[in-house]
Amino acid sequence: MRHTSTRAALVTTLFCLNSLIVIAASNHTGGFAALWSANASLVFMLMIFPRKEHPVYCTGVFLASLVVNLYSGFPLQAALLYSLSNVLEAVLVFLALARLGFPKTGLYNPAQLVEFGIVATLVTAISASIASLGDIENFANAWLSWFASDLLGLLIFLPCFNIIHATITGAEKYIWPGRRWFEFAGIMSLVFAVSAVALVQTAVPLLFLTAIPVFAAVFRFGPFGGMASTLMVAIVAEFFTLSGFGPIAGLEASQITKIFVLQAYIASQLMLALPIASLLADRQSKVEKIIENEKLLRILAEKDQRKAEEAKLQKMRLLARDELTGLSSRRHIMEQCELALQRAQEGNGAFSIAIFDVDKFKAVNDRFGHAVGDDILRMIGKICKHTISRNQLVGRIGGEEFLMLLPDTSIAEAEAQVERLRLAIMDARLLQPDIGVTVSAGLANSAGFHELKEMLLLADKALYAAKHGGRNRLEIAA
Ligand code: GH3
Ligand code: MG
Ligand code: MG
Repeated sequence: MRHTSTRAALVTTLFCLNSLIVIAASNHTGGFAALWSANASLVFMLMIFPRKEHPVYCTGVFLASLVVNLYSGFPLQAALLYSLSNVLEAVLVFLALARLGFPKTGLYNPAQLVEFGIVATLVTAISASIASLGDIENFANAWLSWFASDLLGLLIFLPCFNIIHATITGAEKYIWPGRRWFEFAGIMSLVFAVSAVALVQTAVPLLFLTAIPVFAAVFRFGPFGGMASTLMVAIVAEFFTLSGFGPIAGLEASQITKIFVLQAYIASQLMLALPIASLLADRQSKVEKIIENEKLLRILAEKDQRKAEEAKLQKMRLLARDELTGLSSRRHIMEQCELALQRAQEGNGAFSIAIFDVDKFKAVNDRFGHAVGDDILRMIGKICKHTISRNQLVGRIGGEEFLMLLPDTSIAEAEAQVERLRLAIMDARLLQPDIGVTVSAGLANSAGFHELKEMLLLADKALYAAKHGGRNRLEIAA
């Protein structure tokens, strides 16, 4: 609906239709309406339509209500007062609920339900007082009749309209019967059957019995079930009572007293259904919030765990690497040698290790400075990485001392490989300044060894022999 006039026409038409039906029903029974639903429809439309158009709707409804009242036979003064009271009541309820921040879903929480009850009671008391000014001799009865039927109309119909609107617009998902239409239809049929039996006859007093299917509807379908079942009971009760059937119509009392009893009965059903439905909805939304929070916490925990694992991995990577040369750390190369020995003992191939040490490195440091010494160690690291094959590993195990692991190699192959590395280091030159170094190496093969320590000791001995044999050479452990 794009135009103000369309909406105003809709508001006015719905209000008038609503009034005409209720007035016709009450004329039929002596002028008393049991449930005045028109004002609830006006409040509802004020809630959902633009606020700046409200004066237009209110004027339209006032004029239309005046016509309806005059047409229904009320004198001009009464018609004016009734129309004014209706519009005033709807506007005051709307303003109060808007100020209290009410949702448009009809799913009031328990505290809001109490607020809604208080607002509706106070406002209807005011509108009843204004409306009854037209009937001063009969003021008390007129006041009570207006108050009871308007209050009940608001309490039953406003949440009803809100819930239906929220359901259609998708503002609330869980109140709609969804795929449980069959069950919903079953419970509503039960509500209808029980209220019809309770309200059509006087032989057995069964009015209390309607509470049971109403409860079933509330528990199975929350606020929507509560509203639908209460409405069903109200319509059945009003229809049979106003048609002269059932225990309320059969009371020996005036028509207005009967209407009051009917209203009290409908109110009792509402008071059963509404608080429980609102508590259930409140609990449901809290449960949903808890589930949502739990999901969030789980996601955060998983994120934390991933971060911790990542940090641990990063730490491991750092621990496995020698910072200066980029070769393996002492710890890492030792671990790898242990593993290689384990594999060799399980019969999966012999391997060799070589320890090599920079010759006269102290003198290099002394002559060129520690920083140049570091550059040379870095250069050795690079040469190692370029020279060794993919399954081999070199680690820095001391200041200028390195350990090389050569898996699956015979001593002869290992000798050739280490020699290649030794020559490569010897040939290399640090360009600025132009200096080079040599290394001496000791080589040992795993055959016959049970402990890495022994193997290292022998390789070290061979290295010692190389140093003594003149340096820049390789010795093989005997
Ligand atoms: P040799 O041929 O007998 O091995 O003689 P060398 O001078 O290399 O042996 P020595 O063990 O006497 O000296 C090792 C020197 O290595 C001592 C120290 O100045 C140097 N050094 C150890 N670690 C580092 C390092 O990380 N950076 C630098 N620049 N020098 C280091
Ligand atoms: Mg040295
Ligand atoms: Mg040394």
